[in-house]
Order: sequence, then C-alpha cells, then structure tokens
Amino acid sequence: MQGTIERVLLSEETIHARIDELGKQLNDDYDGGQILAVCLLKGSMIFMSDLIRRLNMPITLEVMRASSYGQAMESSGSVKILQDLDRDISGMDVLVVEDIVDTGRTLAKTLDLLRFRKPKTLKVCSLLDKPSRRVISIDIDYTGFVIEDHFVVGYGLDFDEHYRQLPYIGVLKL
Ligand code: 5GP
Repeated sequence: MQGTIERVLLSEETIHARIDELGKQLNDDYDGGQILAVCLLKGSMIFMSDLIRRLNMPITLEVMRASSYGQAMESSGSVKILQDLDRDISGMDVLVVEDIVDTGRTLAKTLDLLRFRKPKTLKVCSLLDKPSRRVISIDIDYTGFVIEDHFVVGYGLDFDEHYRQLPYIGVLKL
C-alpha cells in the first residue's frame, strides 16, 4: 500500500502541530460553553478523535454519514444522508467536524439539514480545504490546511476504503 503514495503532503508532526493550534483557538472561542461536535463519517473519525482530546469544554459527540465517493474521485451532484443524528440539536452550539471540503456539496447539504433544526450556533471545522475545486460556496470557520488540487489519502481519508490508517496525509499516485 505504501508504494502507491506518490509523496507525503502533510507529515504526522505537521498535522499534530496544527491540531494543537486549532484546539487552542476552539478553547478560546467556546470559552465557558458546551459544544455538540458532529463527526462526519467516516473520513473525519481520526481528526475528530485527536481534536476533541485538545478541547477543555464539555462536549457531546454525535456522528452523521453522507454518501461517499466509493471508487470515484469526485462527489456526485446528489448527496444523500446515510446516517442522521438521533438527537435534537435546537438551541445548541454545534460544531461540524469534516475531513476535507472539496466541491462543497457534501457539507452544503449537511449544513442545510442541520440549520433547519435551529441550533444556537453552527460552525465548521475542516482539516483540509481544496478551494480550487469549489462548486458551492461554504464558510469554513476553522481550517487546518488549504491544499492544492490533489487526491489525498491517510489520516482518516480513504480511496475505496483503503489508506485511512496512515498517520500522515499523502498524495495518491493515480
Ligand atoms: P465534496 O462534497 O466537498 O466534493 O466532498 C467532500 C467529501 O469528499 C469529503 O468528506 C471526502 O470524504 C471526499 N473527498 C474530497 N476530496 C478528497 C480527497 O482528496 N481525498 C479523499 N480521500 N477524499 C476526498
């Protein structure tokens, strides 16, 4: 599997140093509050688990899953919610944790659904942002890294369910 990674884009050390900074920023911004963190499965699992261990405030953790690429490298126009939250979020400070925002379709659909349920605040923390590929405009409140248009894997991100366990983020050799 290692042989199909063209190069390391973000090393394990680089990722962890940036998550330290994101954690500090979130601790300052939500000082004294309580958040409901929504992990968008499956790609955000590893990021979410590292991020929340840097946070001081009380957190409740929820998961959602939208349709994935499968073997494709781009999301289709129709994004489906495959697994929804099983609790009321009205009046809560909700932080959606995403692995990567590419076209923006997945997050746009997810945020529309969540906004409709009247959270007190709704913010987004994405480890990666590929703005050059955006089709729908999205406000990302907390971004780990802005990257060029590469298909990346590792640190939770997959290609056809492989590579998620890599501790770094690499560019896949196509
Ligand atoms: P969007 O709907 O913004 O186009 O895509 C968002 C989802 O597509 C992400 O949550 C992620 O699962 C997947 N995705 C987008 N770009 C990449 C990439 O470079 N590598 C991987 N592994 N998944 C990606």
